[in-house]
Amino acid sequence: MSTIPELPFVSVTAWFEHQVRATPDAVALVFDERTITYAELNGRANRLARVLQSLGIGPDKVAAFCLARTPELVVALLAVMKAGGAYLPIDRDLPAERQAFMLQDARPTLLLTQRDLRDLFPQGVEGLLVLEDVEARVAAESGEDLGVAVTAENLAYVMYTSGSTGVPKGVEIPHRALVNFLVAMQKRPGLARTDVLVAITTVSFDISGLEIYLPLVTGARLVLLNRDDVGDGFRIIHHLEKQQATVLQATPSTWRMLLDAKWAGRPGLKMLCGGEGLPRDLGNQLVTKGGELWNMYGPTETTIWSACGRVEAGTGIITIGEPIDATQLYILDAKLRQVPPGVPGELYIGGAGLARGYRNRPELTAERFLPDPFLAGNFIYKTGDVARLRGREIEVQGRMDHQVKIRGYRIELGEIEARLTECPGVKEAVVTAPEVAPGRKQLAAYIVLDAPSAEAEEQLAARLRDFLKKTLPDYMVPSFFQPLAAFPLTPNGKIDRKALPAPKVEQARASQPFVAPQGPVETKLAEIWAEILGREKVGTQDNIFEIGGDSLLIFRIAARANEAGLPLAVRQFFQYRTIAELAAQVGGEAAAPARPSLVAVSREAYRRPVAARS
Ligand code: AMP
Repeated sequence: MSTIPELPFVSVTAWFEHQVRATPDAVALVFDERTITYAELNGRANRLARVLQSLGIGPDKVAAFCLARTPELVVALLAVMKAGGAYLPIDRDLPAERQAFMLQDARPTLLLTQRDLRDLFPQGVEGLLVLEDVEARVAAESGEDLGVAVTAENLAYVMYTSGSTGVPKGVEIPHRALVNFLVAMQKRPGLARTDVLVAITTVSFDISGLEIYLPLVTGARLVLLNRDDVGDGFRIIHHLEKQQATVLQATPSTWRMLLDAKWAGRPGLKMLCGGEGLPRDLGNQLVTKGGELWNMYGPTETTIWSACGRVEAGTGIITIGEPIDATQLYILDAKLRQVPPGVPGELYIGGAGLARGYRNRPELTAERFLPDPFLAGNFIYKTGDVARLRGREIEVQGRMDHQVKIRGYRIELGEIEARLTECPGVKEAVVTAPEVAPGRKQLAAYIVLDAPSAEAEEQLAARLRDFLKKTLPDYMVPSFFQPLAAFPLTPNGKIDRKALPAPKVEQARASQPFVAPQGPVETKLAEIWAEILGREKVGTQDNIFEIGGDSLLIFRIAARANEAGLPLAVRQFFQYRTIAELAAQVGGEAAAPARPSLVAVSREAYRRPVAARS
């Protein structure tokens, strides 16, 4: 028996085309000062789709892309699917080696990019297509719908996620899963033609699928924020007001960023929060800020969100609500038997949202996608999440394994450990994700070296960081590195992660000597950095990313600097990573990179353990 209902459309693009016929002149997409109608967006996507088709894109053929966050990106996504193919996002910020791995692993037919990103890829990379180079050809094509024959089982997209064995894995999502998801979302949390959704999520994260396609299949308005604005709480708030937004989806960290920006709220705004647990304190604050608040839950492997629930103010853990349409959630024991209500077990997901599996990884697919013991012929995905039933709702309590979420990013600690042990001199490595402040986790790496080394801890940390940066995205590079003579062990000889020492916030001084701030701007900036990073002192040459900073802390620092009357845009804090460079942007104060007055300070003065660790 199949639990998959008859879907209204075979693909998201067939559904979009139906919407285009219903509301051709309505605004589909807003970007900066540009507006694009449904008919225009469709025509542009059709023209590009024809060119992609002529270059070999068709059912189950993959087009990788690395494109700026502009309307051309939306056109490209639609065009790939209209040509019958599937898309694979390659984030421009990933290290070259990781991009190369993904391309080699996925073997896409084409790699779409644009002139100013072209240099990210080696000369002669297979299938490279620079969009500007085919502009004339695209313009000459017909803007009519193509009517390519795809089935609901053909692929819509491939998305890579961290892999515990050391390399990322590509999740293959068919059209059926994406269409079923959108059908469900239109009903709950719900979207109507009059809605205005502000899209802030990177396309390398599957939840961007809700932000881009849900408005476009509904006749609603999609407001795409540019790359600078999505990391800036002030800019997001500005756009919510300017565009009269009615829906915003974000991770808990991003919602916190809006609160850090002193967001007054927007009455009636539907707030979708997901990607990691929604802490009670955040939920209670958000319900006072807008209209409905929804907790959204789901792994990439079961297509964006598999459960959701409306959140009210209250106490206790916020549940993930109930499964979405055509989706089954099971809480099972190790023998795949259902556990009684209220008892924790592992969460398994079945139904229409299931991925085909991991690209070119049949063993891994077989490990995680198991035959459904309750519905013959179906499969269930083993999430690794620990959950229990509370009434009709499900409460997620934690993980069975070493997968963590940091600022919404899914990270397998095992992948970082595998990379670390490849670093010369490293014998063993363990990575943890302690909570260094309420609601804020950071990665800490513990190392046992092959042989005792005279290398100072700071040098070792800098060397390991540089090594990891070659293959791992920034958010997977630990903030703390600590060599140990041996790992603490449990009585049965396993590494006792709980007995590892708390990370040292003041470590990671990198190889830079301490340079004291001079003048009011540097002094104020140093004061704010120290307070927000929880450090005693910060030098003007310290790189923010090397002393425990991340995008959210940087936003917090920027917000405080603005309050203190320093005229710096949030984007400048990402661009200029030391206090000296930033102060130079404010002008007035000379802040050359090499200052004459180096003040040497004993390293010990900077060592202070973090108080809380969960
Ligand atoms: P991803 O594949 O990046 O979407 O990550 C999926 C994992 O994130 C899930 O298996 C959960 O561990 C976690 N997750 C996502 N949303 C929630 C939520 N609302 N509550 C708790 N955990 C969540």
